[in-house]
Amino acid sequence: MEEKKVCHGGHEAAASAKKAAITAEDERFMQMAIDLSVRNVAEDGGPFGAVIVRDGEVIATGVNRVTASCDPTAHAEVSAIRAACAKLKNFKLEGCTVYTSCEPCPMCLSALYWAGVDKIYYGNTKEDAKAIDFDDSFIYDEIAKEYGDRRIPCINIMREQALKAFRDWDEKTDKIKY
Ligand SMILES: [Zn+2]
Repeated sequence: MEEKKVCHGGHEAAASAKKAAITAEDERFMQMAIDLSVRNVAEDGGPFGAVIVRDGEVIATGVNRVTASCDPTAHAEVSAIRAACAKLKNFKLEGCTVYTSCEPCPMCLSALYWAGVDKIYYGNTKEDAKAIDFDDSFIYDEIAKEYGDRRIPCINIMREQALKAFRDWDEKTDKIKY
């Protein structure tokens, strides 16, 4: 959080107000996420853990199993979202708070927005993660670039054919909107 040194006024006031709102319960759930991350290292997973809570109750937990599961999306937060949604039989996690041992990467942050969680608490910062070679800054850099400048080519073809599913969806009267 080097930026803090150059931030004054509003940002610091907002940050301290948020800090003051952290409760003993928040710390208990964060400790749970941290414990999961520590245990996961001993169990051949990545050093990341997440806990999803609603109304003071743990709905689901997740740990990073990218290498163990050969799944590049098996980050702690995504794993916890999948488990929580399966348990609640809902594709939204409104009313839920997420405690994650590390600041979410762009994929997990996006997934948490799609899930519609209420709040996110994180322990390690992305700078802490970068220091041990978990660097997600290249993804933030890629998002800001034009398609032609990105390292993975992303090319628009056959739009007219692809639009069929969109037209079908648009006309469907019994769809579940999300
Ligand atoms: Zn992630």
